[in-house]
Amino acid sequence: MIYDVIIIGGGAWGCSTAMNLSKRGKKVLVLERGYLAYAQSGHTSAIIRQFYSHEETAKIAMLSLRYFRDFKQKTGFDAHFRQTGLLVISDDSESIKRTVEVLKKIGAKCELLDKDRVKEIEPSISLSNDEVFAFEPDAGYVDPIATVWGFAQCAKGFGAQILEGVKVKKISRQKDWIIESDKGTFESEKVIVAAGTNTPFLIRDLGFNLPIYLFPFPMCYYRRPYGAKSLMRVIFDSTNNYYARPEGESEILVGPMHDEMTYAESSAIAVDKNLYWADKNPDWIGRIDFDLSSAYSRALSIRFPELSEIHPSRDFVPLLDVTPDWQPIIDELPGFDGLFVACGSSGHGFKLSPLIGEIFADFVISGKPPSFARAYSLSRFRM
Ligand SMILES: Cc1cc2nc3c(=O)[nH]c(=O)nc-3n(C[C@H](O)[C@H](O)[C@H](O)COP(=O)(O)OP(=O)(O)OC[C@H]3O[C@@H](n4cnc5c(N)ncnc54)[C@H](O)[C@@H]3O)c2cc1C
Repeated sequence: MIYDVIIIGGGAWGCSTAMNLSKRGKKVLVLERGYLAYAQSGHTSAIIRQFYSHEETAKIAMLSLRYFRDFKQKTGFDAHFRQTGLLVISDDSESIKRTVEVLKKIGAKCELLDKDRVKEIEPSISLSNDEVFAFEPDAGYVDPIATVWGFAQCAKGFGAQILEGVKVKKISRQKDWIIESDKGTFESEKVIVAAGTNTPFLIRDLGFNLPIYLFPFPMCYYRRPYGAKSLMRVIFDSTNNYYARPEGESEILVGPMHDEMTYAESSAIAVDKNLYWADKNPDWIGRIDFDLSSAYSRALSIRFPELSEIHPSRDFVPLLDVTPDWQPIIDELPGFDGLFVACGSSGHGFKLSPLIGEIFADFVISGKPPSFARAYSLSRFRM
């Protein structure tokens, strides 16, 4: 059988795209080497927010957040969206004000708060006088496994085939695209590589070097002191360089903040060859060291004195596929008709997954990048 589209990767991006393509009548096959949500999508913090200074990304995040709110109605499955709000704390008033302006401009709810208002939201929080605060009331988080599962089941309902335990080894072109795997060979008119950190490695044999860095992302979970009511929302604490959110009733999840890069004009972004993916193991997972777990818990307990007794319960350090400007790549590879890549989600792609799937389906069917996706083209990088 020749498929219309084969998607390599059963994460959030692959499954959302499969759902959107099959809904529009395409014969779709998803090949996943492990089980659904085997890599980043199964380890993500799954925070759903719109707080971005990059306007295109903020818009896609806003539309995706609306989709998450209506997920059950749209897919027939539940992503378990919990609307907690996002509190942003920063000592960089210019950058926080800029982002609030972007959100207001696109019509997303977000406001600057004074200390008294922050105290109403988080009564036991400790704040300093040189900090500024913003609150995005619609933000929250979802169950990432349920989300990917929902996309996949909905795709199956529209006729998509999803094969787990099939590892793609090689992509080549004859009349159609030929996908060789450890379980046989498949053929399709178009291919989407949505294989996360493995994407550049799958493309390499075609002689194409994607501008991707593999970036370690240290996560630590802490036991919440019994009965503690602090930190029931998503917190971005840029002053102390971490983000946190509740995980179930008894845990708090903590990860690092990174500076959002400013989007530069087309072709302007040079790629630092020293940070390249080629000498890395895309499936590496590490552990955090004691110093970092202590630094996270110290930062949390200074901010929330009620959490001074928290202790770590588990940790891991996965790799992210990051682009030089921390924005995704959604494009057809130049010189390779019908071969698309969806990668470089740069540590914030889960929240974008509903719209990424829609945008990609449009792109693959029409052959023309939708206006949204232009900001995510490969041509913005100077290789
Ligand atoms: C710790 C952590 C926290 C994060 N927090 C957030 C957050 O709060 N909010 C947010 O929006 N984003 C967050 N992200 C980012 C987000 O999780 C990712 O952007 C998103 O999950 C990427 O989805 P994906 O489908 O592109 O990639 P993946 O989920 O990595 O999926 C790629 C799939 O391809 C499969 N694959 C790879 N090679 C092959 C092959 N050869 N053959 C077949 N299959 C293959 C893999 O097994 C995998 O299932 C976080 C990420 C991490 C790791």
